Amino acid sequence: MSATPGPEAANAPPLVELQDIRRSYGLPQRTPDDPAPTPVLRGISLKIHAGEFVAIMGASGSGKSTLMNILGCLDRPNDGRYLFEGRDVSDLDADALARMRRETFGFVFQGYHLVQTESARENVEIPALYAGMPEHERRVRATALLERLAMGARLDHRPGQLSGGQQQRVAIARALMNGGRVILADEPTGALDSQSGAEVMKLLHELADAGHTVILITHDRQVAAQARRIVEIRDGEIVADSGDARPADGPRPAWDASRGPRA
Ligand code: ADP
Ligand code: MG
Repeated sequence: MSATPGPEAANAPPLVELQDIRRSYGLPQRTPDDPAPTPVLRGISLKIHAGEFVAIMGASGSGKSTLMNILGCLDRPNDGRYLFEGRDVSDLDADALARMRRETFGFVFQGYHLVQTESARENVEIPALYAGMPEHERRVRATALLERLAMGARLDHRPGQLSGGQQQRVAIARALMNGGRVILADEPTGALDSQSGAEVMKLLHELADAGHTVILITHDRQVAAQARRIVEIRDGEIVADSGDARPADGPRPAWDASRGPRA
């Protein structure tokens, strides 16, 4: 089997292309005595293709979360270009940007970010609520996703009644609720014991195998080593990149809970 992607995949624009992205925090200097803004991302250029499973690895404070927020269109760079499927994201109006955030990206965070007063199923339903999915469809899909993630027996549990690993499964199901073509996971195993962490990594692998693009943010080299590509960031710059590692047969269609488990 050849590792070279087919001609179609080779001609498609990258899913994500960052060109010399810069981001600093702090107010612009008005006088020379004002504190200078702190540069956090200092010229990040990166291409990620559909179907890749990439780890962005770096020490605490290296700019990983800042980069993830830009990738997920939660934040904008001060400088540089972000092309998504060849389209400049800065050309999108607020509605189009919100739609893209909602329908393209699925976010998974270290601290799960679940609503404590809602059940597992209700938490998973939240993104679809914003997308305007009818209630019945929402329930069916959230239930299917949780069953797929081995959480079918805990649909009505609240986050406080679940272990860390189980809460992270709920968060992953929520990230998939609107499709989650691109999964952005910021230190998803950081708060977990090693067994639960390994299970979450296995799930991310399964999602990548099912055609999702997975971007995993981690400070942990051992976690990063489980991805198919490692991009290393230090002080806001990319210092190493193991390179494009698309599946040989090109991206597969993302798994869709509404169509049931894949054969
Ligand atoms: P990482 O996720 O790799 O730990 P971050 O992207 O969170 O790094 O932060 C990178 C640097 O930017 C850190 O020095 C952090 O203190 C600073 N920083 C992050 N967010 C803000 C903010 N909203 N305002 C000011 N400084 C920030
Ligand atoms: Mg971070």
